[in-house]
Amino acid sequence: MKKDIRKAIIAGNWKMNKTRSEAKALIDEIIPLSQNADCQTVVCVPYTNLETAVQAVKGTNIKVGAQNVHFEENGAFTGEISVSMLKEIGVSYVIIGHSERRQYFGETDETVNKRTKTALAGGLIPIVCVGELLWERETGITEEVVSRQIKLAFFGISAADAAKVVIAYEPVWAIGTGKTATSEQAQEACKLIRDRLCTLYGKDIADSITIQYGGSMNAANAAELVAKEDVDGGLIGGASLKATDFGEIIKAASV
Ligand code: PEP
Repeated sequence: MKKDIRKAIIAGNWKMNKTRSEAKALIDEIIPLSQNADCQTVVCVPYTNLETAVQAVKGTNIKVGAQNVHFEENGAFTGEISVSMLKEIGVSYVIIGHSERRQYFGETDETVNKRTKTALAGGLIPIVCVGELLWERETGITEEVVSRQIKLAFFGISAADAAKVVIAYEPVWAIGTGKTATSEQAQEACKLIRDRLCTLYGKDIADSITIQYGGSMNAANAAELVAKEDVDGGLIGGASLKATDFGEIIKAASV
């Protein structure tokens, strides 16, 4: 991490876990662990827990995120949630284009771009997920895949707006598998992303954008990952559901 020029962010992606009462209990455990953090802590909770989470983090340094948002402001989109609905509750961040959304719910680079634009226009901070599949890494096209995802995610987004985006580099083969990218692989991919952002927006903007690593980050491997120059924190699934583990990751990012 280069904390002198960009914000380190540790974000938990709770996925489809926790009832409202469980969410409140977990956040109450996380609050003291985040109190002296030298990084931004975010909890991305299921829609039904957003209001509870926003209430629970009041007066703390923790922010709340959603796990998806629709790209239209309103209309006939059964089951969807808009930016203004999230803003009204007090949500600050939103995960966009998580690999599980891409794999199970038809998310494409085009819809990632549309959602990112709508989130930015409405004042939410998008956490845009990119990353290659296992066979793409094995066939040597990681660079091509990630570069394409970045180019398409940022299509038509101004430099001023791009500077507000958070990117999560999440190799799909490392998500929920217990198989973490090495710190060298994480650094290489995050650096590649920063180079692409530099081509699109110039060095100052590229240097200011937070690029997280995600994929089986845990209490044991977080310190080595976030010590890398271009790895500005993490998007954490499984380990964000245990307060002590999440607290250790926050601690690792606060050094
Ligand atoms: C994620 O859901 O973004 C993620 C990285 O999950 P896990 O940490 O469980 O691999």
